[in-house]
Amino acid sequence: QKEVWAKLKDEPTISQDGEQVELAANIGTPEDVTGVLNNGGEGIGLYRTEFLYMGKSELPTEEEQYNAYKSVLEQMGDKPVVVRTLDIGGDKELSYLDLPKELNPFLGFRAIRFCLENEDVFRPQLRALLRAGVHGNLKVMFPMIATLEEFRQAKAILMDEKHDLKNEGLKVAEHIEVGIMVEIPSTAVIAKQFAKEVDFFSIGTNDLIQYTMAADRMNERVSYLYQPYHPAILNLVNTVIEAAHSEGKWTGMCGEMAGDPIAIPILLGLGLDEFSMSSTSILPARTQIRDLSKEKLASYKSKLLAMGTAEEVEEFIKEKTK
Ligand code: PEP
Ligand code: MG
Repeated sequence: QKEVWAKLKDEPTISQDGEQVELAANIGTPEDVTGVLNNGGEGIGLYRTEFLYMGKSELPTEEEQYNAYKSVLEQMGDKPVVVRTLDIGGDKELSYLDLPKELNPFLGFRAIRFCLENEDVFRPQLRALLRAGVHGNLKVMFPMIATLEEFRQAKAILMDEKHDLKNEGLKVAEHIEVGIMVEIPSTAVIAKQFAKEVDFFSIGTNDLIQYTMAADRMNERVSYLYQPYHPAILNLVNTVIEAAHSEGKWTGMCGEMAGDPIAIPILLGLGLDEFSMSSTSILPARTQIRDLSKEKLASYKSKLLAMGTAEEVEEFIKEKTK
């Protein structure tokens, strides 16, 4: 098995019927990139920048961030690198920021909500990204977007910093794609409107499932409701992919679901363009996809979307792919 995987390290990810997708990796630090390349990653689909901010006593400087982003971009060469801006709050706390205690932290003041109100934290990160962008194939992604206004505001701040950096005579990346995480149901439902304005989507199923099913992703007691194959989730994922494609944009997925061997055939059939997962899942996923027919899986789409339960979906797809 390991030998079969190793042979595919430098191969593209192409289904049995000749359709290509991208297999990317989720990382937390520049040190993770070695593992991505050793496992045949075609890009970074999610760089969680929180780690730069966590486990220390103060905010990282613009320079520290610039060095980290540059290191990731240089190691990846011309392969795409999606960097997510700070997604703090929820389960991730920062002692030095003195965030308010909240009754429902996962529904509270986190991620882009925090960044838009704390531009002194947000702007240095955007500057570091814009400057690092000249060293590789950078794409910037905003987390926890619930409304179009949030996206517009975040993008305007990014453009503002770009303008300032240029005026200061610094080199910045000219053409960076700017996208969003789709992890809040409101955004998935009106993906069509978002697709006109964003360059790409990346579906964050870890949160999208939690918010759609109203089941805390950390709470064991309600974990039975945490159902990736629930038809509600599949319908939202399908809405997002169709919306993107109708505007000529691409859709990735960076939640755990993207690396799940049962979900992979479903997602391939729905037309997902990029699958981002932990490095060690990449070669098994490539092996699996090479044996799947995208066209055949796509023919099950309306049937799957009309199913009533996650169990039905799972049984069906297992039967069809065995
Ligand atoms: C997600 O919500 O699916 C995701 C990838 O982000 P995180 O797990 O960091 O919340
Ligand atoms: Mg998330």
